[in-house]
Amino acid sequence: MQRYFVKPHQLLDNRITITGDDVHHIVKVMRGKPGDQLIVCDSEGRCARARLVDLGTQEVQAEIVEMLDEQRELPIHVTIAQGLPKSDKLEWIVQKGTELGMTTLVPFSSERTIVKLDPKKEAKKRERWQKIAKEAAEQAHRTRVPEVMPAVGFAELLEQANRYTSCVIAYEQENTTSLQTVLASLRQGDSLCVLIGPEGGFTTEEVAQAEQAGIVPVSLGPRILRTETASQYVLAAVSYHFESPNR
Ligand code: SAM
Repeated sequence: MQRYFVKPHQLLDNRITITGDDVHHIVKVMRGKPGDQLIVCDSEGRCARARLVDLGTQEVQAEIVEMLDEQRELPIHVTIAQGLPKSDKLEWIVQKGTELGMTTLVPFSSERTIVKLDPKKEAKKRERWQKIAKEAAEQAHRTRVPEVMPAVGFAELLEQANRYTSCVIAYEQENTTSLQTVLASLRQGDSLCVLIGPEGGFTTEEVAQAEQAGIVPVSLGPRILRTETASQYVLAAVSYHFESPNR
């Protein structure tokens, strides 16, 4: 059954109003007609099975058949802070990170990020990344869409660290804590932020600054992962740690 995401205000009482690109998808692609059923989720994780009532050119009306209790989100909130990678790698990171349960993506620039986001073009890029996240969340049957935040500088990123239960910096050099140790310290509902360096990695000064901000250097294992692989390793480890049966 096709899944669509709406804003909370579009899901009122037992009526749902769908607007925007999804109207075209329902009417033209799915050739929806009154009585057809679909799943609609709001951005706060509430999902309902609904029945199409009225299909217009600008909006589609549906009525709720039943609220659903879907457990599809990771038990902890995972924010991936990603050093801006080259070319269109960030699109891949957003798509795969969404499938693996990422909550939020924060792109950042640092000493070795090659890509400098042009402020005039950033809004358009962020819109595209957010669209990729929505489509990947629909495909993965998630109950919420990850949020792609505006890009920040490294210093601003460090200032945000204390918002999380735990914040770590993935660092492939020596003297790091294991990711397993960090995950073992977290409980359902906690929040984890993971800083992933760009292709050129972090400078030693950046790692020292992160440690001063209370951010813990962690290892992602004995192999050097590409920047786009590192976040996926973390998300898979979180799922394995918290979602394996009999844990
Ligand atoms: N220094 C790396 C090298 O020698 O190629 C370049 C950085 S690596 C391609 C990109 C980022 O992925 C790193 O900054 C780090 O955040 C993360 N990373 C990759 N492998 C890792 C590992 N084994 N442990 C911790 N972090 C890792």
